[in-house]
Amino acid sequence: MKLLEVLIERKVQSLNRPFSYAYFGTKDVGVGFRVLIPFANKKIVGYVVSISETNKSLEDIQKELGFKVSSVIDVIDEKPLLNDELMRLANEIKDHYCAPLISVLQAMLPTSLKPSSASLKGPKIAYDTYVKLLSDDESGLTPKQIELLRRIKSADGLMLKKDCKSPSILDKLVASNRVDFVKVEKTRLEIPEYKKEKVKILTKDQQNAVNSILNTDKTVTLLQGVTGSGKTEVYLSLSEQILKQGRNVLMLVPEISLTPVMVEYFQRRFSGNVAILHSELTPAEKYDEYRRISRGECKIIVGARSAVFAPLDNIGLIILDEEHVESYKQDVLPYYHAREVAIMRAAHFNSKVILGSATPSLETKARAMKGVYHYVNLPNRINQQELPKTTIIDLSKASSFSRESMMFSSYLIRELQGVLDRKEQAILLINRRGYSGYITCRNCGHIFMCPNCGIALTYHKEDNMLKCHHCGYVEDKSDECPECGSKYLSKSGFGTERIVDEVKKIFPNARVLRLDSDVGEVRNNIQKTIEVFSNQEADILVGTQMIAKGHDFPNVTLVGVVLADIGLSLPSFRSSERAFELITQAVGRSGRANKTGQAIIQTFNPYHYAIQLAAKQNYETFFKKEMSVRKVQQYPPYTYLTSLEIISKNEEVAVELIHKIAEDIISKEFENVTVLGPVSPYIAHENNSYHRLILIKYKNSDKIKPYLDRLLETLKSKSQIDVKVNVDPYNF
Ligand code: ADP
Ligand code: ZN
Ligand code: ZN
Repeated sequence: MKLLEVLIERKVQSLNRPFSYAYFGTKDVGVGFRVLIPFANKKIVGYVVSISETNKSLEDIQKELGFKVSSVIDVIDEKPLLNDELMRLANEIKDHYCAPLISVLQAMLPTSLKPSSASLKGPKIAYDTYVKLLSDDESGLTPKQIELLRRIKSADGLMLKKDCKSPSILDKLVASNRVDFVKVEKTRLEIPEYKKEKVKILTKDQQNAVNSILNTDKTVTLLQGVTGSGKTEVYLSLSEQILKQGRNVLMLVPEISLTPVMVEYFQRRFSGNVAILHSELTPAEKYDEYRRISRGECKIIVGARSAVFAPLDNIGLIILDEEHVESYKQDVLPYYHAREVAIMRAAHFNSKVILGSATPSLETKARAMKGVYHYVNLPNRINQQELPKTTIIDLSKASSFSRESMMFSSYLIRELQGVLDRKEQAILLINRRGYSGYITCRNCGHIFMCPNCGIALTYHKEDNMLKCHHCGYVEDKSDECPECGSKYLSKSGFGTERIVDEVKKIFPNARVLRLDSDVGEVRNNIQKTIEVFSNQEADILVGTQMIAKGHDFPNVTLVGVVLADIGLSLPSFRSSERAFELITQAVGRSGRANKTGQAIIQTFNPYHYAIQLAAKQNYETFFKKEMSVRKVQQYPPYTYLTSLEIISKNEEVAVELIHKIAEDIISKEFENVTVLGPVSPYIAHENNSYHRLILIKYKNSDKIKPYLDRLLETLKSKSQIDVKVNVDPYNF
């Protein structure tokens, strides 16, 4: 008999532990296999974490353990879900992020392979039936049969059954042993083929970058280059070198909307060796691609965040394009960041990691400045294109507006009209993270701030109050602006849909397209929309900041940021950084071809350093300035943050426990560790559960990390609660 320790899909912290099961069957089973088990009167899927052989009887074992041990119903897999490298990675992520192992496995695997009951309903392997030539002996065959036999022969002896057309003739060939049927695994995703293109000759800067990256001893390189400086060409050239060494490449993009462009680049260069992995593939397609990669049939994977878990072997290079984009961070358990996971995998394979960006995250840039990462710069745009003319519009001045619109300034309207008259194109951008959680004054632009932390307060509808998500400060939502007394307080964010409506109202004849990653059917929509806009079948494209990235729209001469402050108003110490990125992107988008472009930035804070410096595309000065702000406030990258959230159906339980934890940490007097909160998060009450959290700020994790591990262990004995730890959270 075998005794298995099995993890189950956990709903609460007390289930975050292995359960014992007996297996009397004969199937192969071991660590990393999924098993069907009885649990609380249901059949569920479990994941084996340890196994031992025993001669004792089940009764003896039950007596020893003191509880009843049930038997495994069936073993699901024929081999472990993950290979050794990925299994080790799963454990490393579990440790680093204080996350339940089962949540890490859920994040790593496609639906059909997840250790969850849902996987049983997931797609199965699909097959195509082929006709295989056994003998080309034509003697005794009718002319029709000979015709088909020759067709099969000319198709290299292997032809899709459904292409044979006449089943009766085919049956005769089978009966006379000329051909046979074979089943071949089918891949349901069709990756378009592209003509190979002549390889571009690298500029001197690009060549230097490639050499420098190949020659450095450091694992990670920050490749910083302004938009249009040709980073993609550097990725391709490096990939070529790595493939020549017989090693494989993992190419990550921050959003699925960017995969088609990147796939095209790689297909043109390395036709046939590319696989795609991202969340918008159908479960069947994803399953097929996953297995294709596992079988070692691909050399290059292009994909979004979760592609960092691709079962690719022998990795020589991992690239994160637009490394600063926050979608690399998963915002549910296990809250991993693709950058950190990439670095973990690189350590195993001794491979290189490239972080590419025009506006690196402060964390990454700071590490590059300290020499933790290698640093390479592409300072110039290819073709030395000039940056577009940039105009900042002050939204707090009534004179910026006409009666036509409250959202678009008169200047923006005039320039849009000009674009339409000249039959050129425009892009209107908005930060997709905009939502209606904050309050500003429509008259003077005042933002309600926390008096302790200096960050924007968040509006909570439930109790009509403004709250600070950092320190717990609370105030009644006032009805007038404390600065100017105006009663026009606005709590409505600008979504892309509202902008489209506004464009249609002002320019009823303009052809408007909307594109963002939040709409359903993303995959098809993106490609279609981009195509329509490229073909100049539309005049204005409205979308979130990432949409236009990677595409050259030569006819676009105007890029407008409708409301640049959304970033600034978000209750986060990252607000300035977000606003800076949005505007830099926008300015970089316009005027990529021969026509000179212009960018229009609408803002309530025209003199804010983030906006001023972004308009000039001055990253370096912004970096210095923002670093000094972070230093004063002791925020990352000068410190680390980890949030700890307690969830319970019983509000009192959640509140009491979180206070107890906060007090306990404080009483330990760890050096350079502070606790912010407890606070109720933005969504404090959901699915009949109450959420309470603390933020832990620390300079190094030596003391606090082991403390948290112990704490999570002890919390397993508590019923009624769940706990979620988020290391390096982004929503604060
Ligand atoms: P980035 O990713 O840095 O914003 P891209 O990789 O999109 O920049 O490159 C900008 C443009 O320059 C693209 O149209 C690309 O085809 C072109 N380009 C890049 N490198 C070269 C080169 N060595 N020679 C000619 N054109 C290039
Ligand atoms: Zn005001
Ligand atoms: Zn505060």
